[in-house]
Amino acid sequence: MRHIALIFALMLSVSCSKDDTLETVATAELTLQEIADLSVLREEEKLARDVYLYAYDTYGLNIFNNISKSEQTHMDKVLSLLDAYGLEDSAHSDRGVFNNTELSELYESLTAKVALSLQDALQVGATIEDLDIYDINEFLSHTQEPTIITVYESLNCGSKNHIRSFNGQIESLGDTYVPQFISQDEFETILSSPSGGCGN
Ligand code: MN
Ligand code: MN
Repeated sequence: MRHIALIFALMLSVSCSKDDTLETVATAELTLQEIADLSVLREEEKLARDVYLYAYDTYGLNIFNNISKSEQTHMDKVLSLLDAYGLEDSAHSDRGVFNNTELSELYESLTAKVALSLQDALQVGATIEDLDIYDINEFLSHTQEPTIITVYESLNCGSKNHIRSFNGQIESLGDTYVPQFISQDEFETILSSPSGGCGN
């Protein structure tokens, strides 16, 4: 009897998840701004992943491979949110291809800079993280949804780890990184904070 009830509950949950009315309700909880932010963020994490894969293919430096894997987990987290709210995946499935025109142009200019030298590639890494932190701070100011805030904070924490790593490599080559999006103050605060785990 318990088994039959369980199977029925499972069937019910499967049929509900495909119900259009329920999806609309879930989506209606979010503002258009929140939906736009999630859609952009999904491909922004893909931009990071794809540029680092390109840099790893070019220079074979482990930092690019390791951080590209972290970006994959960031992409997955945003996809889980899109799924949970019944929203379509905004990301193109092919590497280096983007649905968002601005991100597509950014991919072209950033990979062109990566191709110049390893120093340039590391600067590109820091710039992507700089932009990510700036955008996620902005997105955080647009939402009150605890589930979304948790993901944003986890991604922001990851980006701070990444910018510290890239900055360390930049300095070891005798260069400096000057932030383009966040303030110099915020950058220095990040550099003086320890790296750590960013939750699940
Ligand atoms: Mn990321
Ligand atoms: Mn990152």
